[in-house]
Amino acid sequence: MLRFIANFDRATVEARIASGPCRPLAEVRLDTPVAWPNKVIAYPANYHAHIEEMKDGLVSTFKTGGQGFFLKANSSLSGPADPIVLPAVVGREVHHECELAIVIGKGGRDIGRADALDHIFGYACLVDVVIRGREERVMRKSFDSFCPVGPWITTADEIADPANIALELHINGALRQSANTRDLIVDIPEMIAMASSVMTLFPGDIIATGTPAGVAPITDGDVLDIAIAGVGAMRLAIVRGTAGAHPVWDKPAS
Ligand code: MN
Repeated sequence: MLRFIANFDRATVEARIASGPCRPLAEVRLDTPVAWPNKVIAYPANYHAHIEEMKDGLVSTFKTGGQGFFLKANSSLSGPADPIVLPAVVGREVHHECELAIVIGKGGRDIGRADALDHIFGYACLVDVVIRGREERVMRKSFDSFCPVGPWITTADEIADPANIALELHINGALRQSANTRDLIVDIPEMIAMASSVMTLFPGDIIATGTPAGVAPITDGDVLDIAIAGVGAMRLAIVRGTAGAHPVWDKPAS
């Protein structure tokens, strides 16, 4: 997949689609589109309304504009056919964060704002799942299945204006999060500029662009729907797993 992204040529792909065997989408099981990226970069709270929300809760008050980004473990990636598996940790809330994923196409270092959009291969839905608390963020956000991405990658040329993409997330049919990328604090070009000021970006790298307001707990048996206009939608089951217990989670969350 990384080679496919690095060497992507739409005409060649479309010619193969036209001549090759096809199967209905409903008959296949889709995996997460980039299972082995070089890295998953994630921006924290990145919409003005969510910053206000976080001041009231037990969650941290990191702001994307001044605090930069973090990483999620690549092994936390899961796909549209996979459930979100809650760890066997008692007394802690696990929250959903509804986010647009950027998939990098052309890599690079110190990419300027003016060139940033040229480095985007495409977009996908992403749920940034997290145990709330004060432990290291990478640990709280890196359980297996805590980064569903999919259901596919919509290539950048299919998105008219990345600064005007609507996204929403429902739990059990109730709207929890609704936002538009026009309200991002750090916009998409700046996210690429900031990340690439530190690290070389490679084809297939994923950037989680930060959550809007409305984060809330998910529990065993919930059904999560994430939909991003022009990009795609995923329906994910929430289940309780048997792995994940450790004394590090025994202290209070706040
Ligand atoms: Mn997030």
